[in-house]
Amino acid sequence: MAQIGQVLVDVPTMQTNEPYSYAIPDQLQDQVEPGMRVTVPFGHRMVSGFVVGISDESDYDGQLKPIQAVLDLAPVLNRELRQLADWLATTTFAFRITCIQTMLPNLLKASVERFIQPTDEISAAERATYFPDGTVRPFDTEKLDATTVSGLLKLRRAGKVTVTYQVKDKAAVKTLAAIVPALPATKLQEIATTVAKRAPKQAQLLTYLQTMGDQPVAQTQVAHDAAVSAEVIRTAVAKGWAAKKALEVYRDPFQRPVQPTQPLTLNAEQRVAVDAISAAVTAQQAQTFLVEGVTGSGKTEVYLQSIAQALKLGRTALMLVPEIALTPQMTNRVKSRFGHAVAVLHSGLSKGEQYDEWRRIDRGEATVVVGARSAVFAPLHNLGLIIMDEEHESSYKQDENPRYHARDVALWRGRYHGCPVVLGSATPSLETRARAAKGLYTRLVLAHRVNDHPLPTVHIVDMREALKANGDGDFSPDLLTAIQARLDRQEQVVLMLNRRGYSSFMMCRDCGFVLKCPNCDISLTLHVDTHSMKCHYCGHEEAIPRVCPNCHSRKIRYYGTGTQKIEKALQERLPAARILRMDVDSTRRKGAHERILKQFGSHQADILLGTQMIAKGLDFPNVTLVGVLNADTALGLPDFRASERTFQLLTQVSGRAGRAEKPGEVFIQTFNPDHYAIQLAQRQDYERFFVTEMHMRHQGNYPPYYFAAQLTASHEDEQVAAKAMYQIVAVLKQGLSPNAIVLGPTPKAIARVKRKYYYQVVIKYKHEPQLQAVLEQIRQGAQQAQRGLTITIDPEPMNFM
Ligand code: ADP
Ligand code: ZN
Ligand code: ZN
Repeated sequence: MAQIGQVLVDVPTMQTNEPYSYAIPDQLQDQVEPGMRVTVPFGHRMVSGFVVGISDESDYDGQLKPIQAVLDLAPVLNRELRQLADWLATTTFAFRITCIQTMLPNLLKASVERFIQPTDEISAAERATYFPDGTVRPFDTEKLDATTVSGLLKLRRAGKVTVTYQVKDKAAVKTLAAIVPALPATKLQEIATTVAKRAPKQAQLLTYLQTMGDQPVAQTQVAHDAAVSAEVIRTAVAKGWAAKKALEVYRDPFQRPVQPTQPLTLNAEQRVAVDAISAAVTAQQAQTFLVEGVTGSGKTEVYLQSIAQALKLGRTALMLVPEIALTPQMTNRVKSRFGHAVAVLHSGLSKGEQYDEWRRIDRGEATVVVGARSAVFAPLHNLGLIIMDEEHESSYKQDENPRYHARDVALWRGRYHGCPVVLGSATPSLETRARAAKGLYTRLVLAHRVNDHPLPTVHIVDMREALKANGDGDFSPDLLTAIQARLDRQEQVVLMLNRRGYSSFMMCRDCGFVLKCPNCDISLTLHVDTHSMKCHYCGHEEAIPRVCPNCHSRKIRYYGTGTQKIEKALQERLPAARILRMDVDSTRRKGAHERILKQFGSHQADILLGTQMIAKGLDFPNVTLVGVLNADTALGLPDFRASERTFQLLTQVSGRAGRAEKPGEVFIQTFNPDHYAIQLAQRQDYERFFVTEMHMRHQGNYPPYYFAAQLTASHEDEQVAAKAMYQIVAVLKQGLSPNAIVLGPTPKAIARVKRKYYYQVVIKYKHEPQLQAVLEQIRQGAQQAQRGLTITIDPEPMNFM
């Protein structure tokens, strides 16, 4: 019986969000399986798509178009990931095809190329005009000029040319030239005897071929083992004694040897945590744990020993980290413990390397996966444990479609596999901590640092006073004295410059003019290394002005503090100090993070000066001082999570000091010394912060007491964006209960980005059974909306800016 494939075509629109039916031609009957990529005719084009289901002949009476080709030998999306894609599409209001693309490595995104070629009908003159170079040419309507395109289309209607399609499948498997014997051993022996005198090298190869068996061996290996040249092998192949084969290999993603490590003897708190998690792993229970452990309490060891339990039971483990490039120490610790079982997924890998790691996981060759946000989709089978380190980090939330949070996906997969999910942090997100308080998550507390090393002493420096005292808004005398003391004792210092909500902008002291981006509603940032002003949102770049573009005054000054400027200022104050800078500019190259950290680790520098990226995961025993140069720049941001972020960052970075024998000290410079987030960060009192902040959220009707969803409209014309938002508000007010709070429309904090104006509405609600349907209705409506108008729906944004 003829079968029908349900295919989700690779065209992200509302109309194509449901699968289309295609006939499976006889010759493909045994090849097509759900989860495979295919090419299908769609309108006048050929597009790629995913088979999401196969059914027997339906009652559709029309003529179904056939699937043209199958791109895969085995499904690339297993059943779990197909279900996950559906769930993701529904909960994040994204297209199903977009969700699928997000889950797969880049290399699997096949694209289809069109070619045009003449038929016998074409005249010589036409051939000369349209096919000067031969018979086939790429047909890319975007690249060809309009007359050529219309001419070719005319020929096509007249049957004088045909269009062919070729899939440009980027998923190239890397292969190596390999050799197999092409004749039985006895035959090879016979030939060897006859050529022995005349061609001893060939006889040598023939003898070797007899020992080989039927598995292909890399040609270089054969040449080495048989001690013959490539030429001799070529001759053997030409004579039909051996055959060439392509041997599939994995690309080697920059592997450094790691020292193997053994499990440490756990302290009492760690023991309790590992036992609880291991029990859930063994019982195959989809239980969620919150491991709330102060910095340096040995959370990583808890993760490692829990993973070991999953592996022992023949299951696999997934470990998520906020940003892999920033946490090389963490990755190395996992690799040291589990060796080749570990696959690391990160954006620093080439597309080929990513694909190879992905296949290693899919085939069960790698059983532990470490990676950042998108690694949550790693095709691990038989998951036994999922760990999410630093679960409060906002990088786990994707800011574009599909707007998913890796935590939600992790919990979904935990339920699917019946496996526990461990959320770890020194400063859990309020949402997670509140769920633990309600008993939804099991809370495991590591209240002490390993070996009872004390937490560092934290000093708050009132910069208003410091500025009055020495006129220096960057470095207080207290901090400079403390740094000098470390230099004298050969200890190391970590200095953090908080760049969030902060930049070095240019202002005219005569007229107050600020140089802004022509495309975005934001000031340009000074970059010393490229001698230019750059927009951090759209990438616009221009020369540093010498005079004010507005009043032509020469009195222009740079305000704010970039890391480069701070580095220079610090070097002037401490000429003998060896300073390493770690920021976006100094870490752009592949492997730069690791290099800088390695240099610092081997004490080739005294001070590591960096942005937020140094706050995470660093474990250097010789660091006894941490300085935060500007603690409060993020406090003023119009976001209800501003205090939470500030508290988390300060606690995190403080935790870098005094992790080994030598006690640590922290200086926090701030213009808001009385703010509770800063006061409680000084005491490193997360529990107190949690209570205080929950109170604030309760008063303001914010999460976790309320859910908050966000809708945004953007358009080049401000009126259009605003008007669309007013219409949406009307739909919301009509569809939702009176208990829902609809805020806005308001322009976003940065109202204009990349030439578009942004308006937003925030919905705060507790229980709105209709919300999903109303938002879906808005999404459907957005399809018919005005050209250039984009409506986005974020059901749970992390960022309200
Ligand atoms: P966290 O992730 O909670 O900040 P880490 O896992 O980095 O803490 O642990 C801090 C340090 O303590 C690391 O150097 C780690 O090797 C060490 N450590 C952890 N657990 C133990 C243990 N049970 N015995 C000895 N040292 C430990
Ligand atoms: Zn001016
Ligand atoms: Zn810009």
